Amino acid sequence: MPRLEIDINKIKHNVTTLKELFAKKGISVTAVIKGVTGSPEIANAILECGISTIAVSLVQNIKRMKESGVKAKFLLTRLPMHTEVADVVKYADISLNSEISTIKLLSEHSLKQGKRHKVVLMLELGDLREGILPGDTDSIIEQIILLKGVELYGIGTNLACFGGVNPSEENMIELSQTAERIQEKYNIKLHMISGGNSANYEWFLHTNNIRNINNLRIGEAILLGRETLHRNKIPKLYTDAFTLICEVIESKLKPSLPYGEICQNAFGDTPEFADIGNINRIIIGIGEQDVDTKAVTPRINAKVIGASSDHLILHSKKHLEVGSEIAFDINYSALLRLSTSPYVKKVFV
Ligand SMILES: *Cc1c(COP(=O)(O)O)cnc(C)c1O
Repeated sequence: MPRLEIDINKIKHNVTTLKELFAKKGISVTAVIKGVTGSPEIANAILECGISTIAVSLVQNIKRMKESGVKAKFLLTRLPMHTEVADVVKYADISLNSEISTIKLLSEHSLKQGKRHKVVLMLELGDLREGILPGDTDSIIEQIILLKGVELYGIGTNLACFGGVNPSEENMIELSQTAERIQEKYNIKLHMISGGNSANYEWFLHTNNIRNINNLRIGEAILLGRETLHRNKIPKLYTDAFTLICEVIESKLKPSLPYGEICQNAFGDTPEFADIGNINRIIIGIGEQDVDTKAVTPRINAKVIGASSDHLILHSKKHLEVGSEIAFDINYSALLRLSTSPYVKKVFV
């Protein structure tokens, strides 16, 4: 305890459903499993569903999957650091990029390792995380195509991750037209034209012309069954493939209002609480160290009223026994931290 229960069949159902849905308009799915630190068990389950490319953000996670015998094409979602290019070339087949200095280093290290690393060039279309500015496209492509160690495998964009920008008809047309222009001007074939992530779900449903966009990099929709613009459940998908189970370590009827002189709490905040009389205050044995406590919802009639590094406090409708187990639904930031924590046991059910 605590433990993260993983229902691998629900994940497989989600992957298969999404793969078939996107295939209807000719879009392949790259499964992004950085939210579960590239779990080899989950990677293998996804590969069994007919997906061929697995993506994570850390090259260490690709290394771990390879060492566990996972056979896939691996894509690195985070722009490589200069200090890790040798490993990126060694472990990843494809990486997303936006800096020519990094791409040059990837080429150098590929030549040293006798490889040709695949580069997907990311375009900035308004979300203001990674991507080259549209006006720089030609000068960067002209430099990339001279490099012997890398192949310009495709172009892509990433929206709704930082700025919350909607993947719209307009910005998808811009991506698509840029791809077309590059292919014609430089007489090259771009194999991957990658329109985005789980936030592209609504665009996909409503657009009647995906043009040449042929790939999406899907994480949260596979793992948690939701699109990410409004966090709506995607029809037919499971949102409960993951369950957090924790233990009650204190259960008492106590006041709702702290008493004594109020100063700062563990995180430097001065908390305020409403006085609603005595309540069932339940302490759970998990805290900010292992989970984003704002991103968990108990499956019983109780609500989270706060947390410190290692304690989570619930207000429960009814009394709960010390030692009993409580199940929680989790969202993406909770999943990420739970997966990363060595103090949370992962159990496949
Ligand atoms: C995380 C990430 C994704 C996957 O996003 P989801 O919202 O989980 O589908 C896709 N592309 C890039 C570049 C990412 O960093």
